[in-house]
Amino acid sequence: MAEARPVPEVDRAAAARKAVERRRARAALKRDLTMRVTTPQSVLARASADPDSVEGSMRITDFLLALPAIGASKRDRILADLGISPVKRLGGLGVRQRVSLSRWLDERFPVIVPRGGRSRLLVLAGPTAVGKGTVAAHIREHNPEIHLSVSATTRAPRPGEIDGVHYYFVDDAEFDRLIDAGELLEYAVVHNRSRYGTPRAPIDAALAAGKTVLLEIDLQGARQVRKAEPSATLIFLLPPTWDELVHRLVGRGTEGPEERARRLRTAKVELAAQNEFDHLVVNEDVAAAAAEVVELSSSSAR
Ligand code: 5GP
Repeated sequence: MAEARPVPEVDRAAAARKAVERRRARAALKRDLTMRVTTPQSVLARASADPDSVEGSMRITDFLLALPAIGASKRDRILADLGISPVKRLGGLGVRQRVSLSRWLDERFPVIVPRGGRSRLLVLAGPTAVGKGTVAAHIREHNPEIHLSVSATTRAPRPGEIDGVHYYFVDDAEFDRLIDAGELLEYAVVHNRSRYGTPRAPIDAALAAGKTVLLEIDLQGARQVRKAEPSATLIFLLPPTWDELVHRLVGRGTEGPEERARRLRTAKVELAAQNEFDHLVVNEDVAAAAAEVVELSSSSAR
């Protein structure tokens, strides 16, 4: 009988490194699922297309546990109902198992279906630090045909910010007056600090002139616009991954552990609001995300 060839040290080290990388990638994928940065349906689709992918190598038990609001006992019940053995990996499901899992996911986590025929009033919102401002600034620079709403705010201007271009910088008394006079389409206190609001008149004028209008506002504001103008098109900007959002939120590490935890909790809650929106756009690349928003604006225009 031929003797087994010893595995060279280098191969073993490389294999160990690869295994660690894959485990890390699977852990990141679980975070994306839990935080709703990615949909379970898209993970299942990638697993089915390539069983050797990170998604394909994920255990079905880990996949289900990573989904929002699924604990161990619920997971076991679901597996029994779907007739899937707990030792299976996502890429190793039979056709029938895949179909029944996919049906269950669609029922439990409905995918956002874009609503057609919305108005030319667009709202761009999303979790803190996802890059809404940068995407809006890109559109301001490259798409002058889109009217970007200029908000009123009680916060002080930052260096380089111009009154009337980036914001209308007003004091508390003036902000109160705008509210009382009904001049704001929506307003909110953002980050427990300053007040921000959308002046109504310029928007009405731009819409009347046939222009597309874009508001870059926070979640509370987006909800108010939906109430006031149910036909508005609501766009939710998503980070490419949960880890990337964490990096953008607390990357500089200048906050203490409490502030860090608070920001992460807020981001989780904010991400859970995505189902209230008409479209999701992933901000992996600013120019591409901006182009997608502009594309949605032209498909909403009618
Ligand atoms: P910043 O102070 O960094 O420019 O903006 C802080 C936050 O305020 C951002 O999340 C931005 O979306 C939000 N914001 C800016 N203008 C408005 C507004 O008119 N209404 C609401 N509700 N939020 C706004």
